[in-house]
Order: sequence, then structure tokens, then C-alpha cells
Amino acid sequence: MNIIVQKFGGTSVSTHEKRMLVIEKIVKAKKQGYLPVVVVSAMGRKGEPYATDTLISLIDKDFKIENPQAADLLMSCGEIISTVVMSNELNNKNILSVPLTGGQAGIITDNNFGNAELKETKIQNLMDILKEGKIPIVAGFQGLSEKGYITTLGRGASDLTAAILGVALNAEKVEIYTDVDGIMTADPRMVSKASLIKQISYNEVFQFADQGAKVIHPRAVEVAMKGNIPLVIKNTLSDSEGTIIDNLGSMQGENVITGITSLDNRVQVKVRINRENNYNDIFSVLAHNSISIDLINIFPKETIFTIDKEDRIKFDEIMNAFKLTCEYVEACSKIAIIGSRMKGMPGVMARILKALTKEDIEVLQTADSHMTIWCLVESKNCIKAINALHKEFKLG
Ligand code: ADP
Ligand code: ASP
Ligand code: MG
Repeated sequence: MNIIVQKFGGTSVSTHEKRMLVIEKIVKAKKQGYLPVVVVSAMGRKGEPYATDTLISLIDKDFKIENPQAADLLMSCGEIISTVVMSNELNNKNILSVPLTGGQAGIITDNNFGNAELKETKIQNLMDILKEGKIPIVAGFQGLSEKGYITTLGRGASDLTAAILGVALNAEKVEIYTDVDGIMTADPRMVSKASLIKQISYNEVFQFADQGAKVIHPRAVEVAMKGNIPLVIKNTLSDSEGTIIDNLGSMQGENVITGITSLDNRVQVKVRINRENNYNDIFSVLAHNSISIDLINIFPKETIFTIDKEDRIKFDEIMNAFKLTCEYVEACSKIAIIGSRMKGMPGVMARILKALTKEDIEVLQTADSHMTIWCLVESKNCIKAINALHKEFKLG
């Protein structure tokens, strides 16, 4: 069987007109000889009635935290609604389909509500539906625990559902349809001159996704890479060829930098802790409280790192308990400059600093790995910084 998994994001299924474009993509795949398995997200974005953010806003924050199982049940509804509406639209075009929850599609997870991990995929239902000549329409972002409770797989994880099914069904490829032409050199909402990346490796795109580029979920990239299934990111609203994500990606192109992304809501912390006043204890307590720290620089007299803004209150409590005073730079953004060809290439950091200095942007911290250079800047400078770097590396 020549199976293709096609995932349509929230904006792609938000209106009748857009769902007609979705149907065109499904029909095209069928004409090309594929058996499509469709995955859908909840309709629309924040503020729209069935979007995940809207559903979760119906309950109190404290109730959500204390009752993650109930929160998952509520959040799963958006995708379930989408499957039935999509199936209705297909039916009106005389195309037979079967709407399914994640559990009915065979996605079995652990009990970690809100961020469940896959345990196994039981593909029998999907195979039976395909054999009957019908199209399964699967609710993304959700699974079923072994005890039969609905779980969710983490925000933005409908992409992950598509990748999981692609691997389990041994699909030829997984297409992720969204509201941009594919993976761009930077978020087109921030950089108007961002250009389309036609082919990119799993590793590079994982960095993009992990460092803030919302366009694809990092775990979807991991799953597809392990299963060696190509991912193709496409635009529901255009006929763009999109971006192919596979193992060959990094061989393409000549530019040392592939693209730039950023993570907001970082807070820089400077604290006078060192070996003598036992930073080991402090780091252990932070870890025990699930506070993840990043961009860590340890000097003889002080330690500098970043935390997520969400952890700020808990972090303050811990520092107070240790009787430590900290200096903070609130509202920082961590910019990631990504490119697998920069390894061993001299001068990249010099160009980054030159471009930022020219725009009078202060770099608060940097870090690097073989594929990525990170610069911490104040969030008010983030868009200007990304545009300056984008221009410096001629990514437009
Ligand atoms: P969907 O609802 O279809 O899953 P998302 O909002 O999750 O869509 O992801 C698409 C968005 O990702 C785009 O609208 C774009 O603003 C954002 N984005 C961030 N970085 C990039 C990038 N490098 N390339 C393309 N899109 C990006
Ligand atoms: N609807 C879910 C979310 O907003 C999953 C997704 O869109 O991929 O997180
Ligand atoms: Mg998404």
C-alpha cells in the first residue's frame, strides 16, 4: 500500500473555504495513487471558539494544574470536532472517510497527561478503513492511556501524531500543511525577506524546532528521523513545493548559515555563587523543582545563566531560601543562528558581533555548538537583531 500521511494545522481547517483547499490536497494525493491518512488540528488560533487555547481558558489555571487528566479531556475536544467537520466536508464531495480520535487510530501512550509519551501504535483500525477504500481522519495531538484515558502529547503535537502514524504505517512520506510555504530562513512574521529552504536535514530542522521555530514540532522531527520517513512542509493556501526534510538536506546549498530562530521569555540571572558557597546544592534544588537553566557560564566569583520567565516566582523562592541576591535582566530572547556547515569555519562569530554592533544591539551572552551559535539579547531588540543577522548572512 502506498500510504501518505497529510496533516493539516489549525489555520488550514479553520474555515469552509480553507477546508475546500484541504480537500484539493487530499484529492491530488489520491490521484497520484496514494492512500491518504489525514491528521487534523483544532480549528483556528487563540480566541477562535474551538482552538485549544480557547478550550483551556474555559477552566481555572489551578484546576488545570491539579487535574491534568480533566484538562487533557477538554483540550482533546478541539481536534475531535475538526475530524467530524472535515469528514462532513468530504462526504459532501462524495469522498468516504471515517473520523477517529487518537485512541481509535491506535495511539497508545503513558499516563503523563499534558505531555504523554507514545507506548505503542495499533494500526489495525486504520488498515481496515484504508482497505475499505475510505480515508481515516485522525484527531492530532492526542492518544489513549493504557487504562483508557484520553491524553495529550504536548502543545503543537499534531505534527507528532502525523510522524508517529507515518512511521507506524510505513508511509512513503508525511506532509505537514500549514500557513507558510515551508521552513523559511527565519519566521516570516519577523523577517519580511525570509526565503524558503527547499531541502534541510533532520538535524538542522530539529535545531530550528527546538529553538523556537513553531513551524514543526521537534518530537515530530525526531520520530520521522528515527523511522527514516521524509517530512514535507507545505502551504495549504498555495502550490509551493515546500520544504523536504530528510538526511540529504545538509548537503544542499553553499551558505554557512541555514537560518535563524529565537526563543522569547528568557530571564538572565547573575548570582554570586561559586564552588565555596556550593553551587552544586543550588543547581540540584533547581533541578529537583524542574527549573531548567540554560546558557550557563561559571566564573570564579559569579555564575550567569538564563531561566524561563514562567519559573521566575519559584526561582525567587529558592534563591531566598539560600539567602542569595540575584541581578536579573528581564525579557530576554535567545537567538539561535543555525547551520551545519559552520563547523570549523572561522569568522562566523565575528560576523555576528559585527552585524549586531552596527545596529547598536548589546549581546548579553553567547554560546555555541557544532551547528548553532546562540546570542542572548533583550527582547525589545530581537526582531532588529534577527533582521540584521539575516542580512549579514545573505539569507534573503
Ligand atoms: P499550524 O497551526 O499549521 O501547526 P503553526 O502556527 O504551529 O501552524 O506553525 C506555523 C507558523 O510557524 C508560521 O505561521 C510562522 O509564523 C511560524 N514560524 C516560525 N519560524 C518559522 C520558520 N523558520 N519558517 C516558517 N515558519 C515559521
Ligand atoms: N491544537 C494543539 C495545540 O494548539 C495541537 C496542534 O495544533 O498541533 O497545541
Ligand atoms: Mg503547529
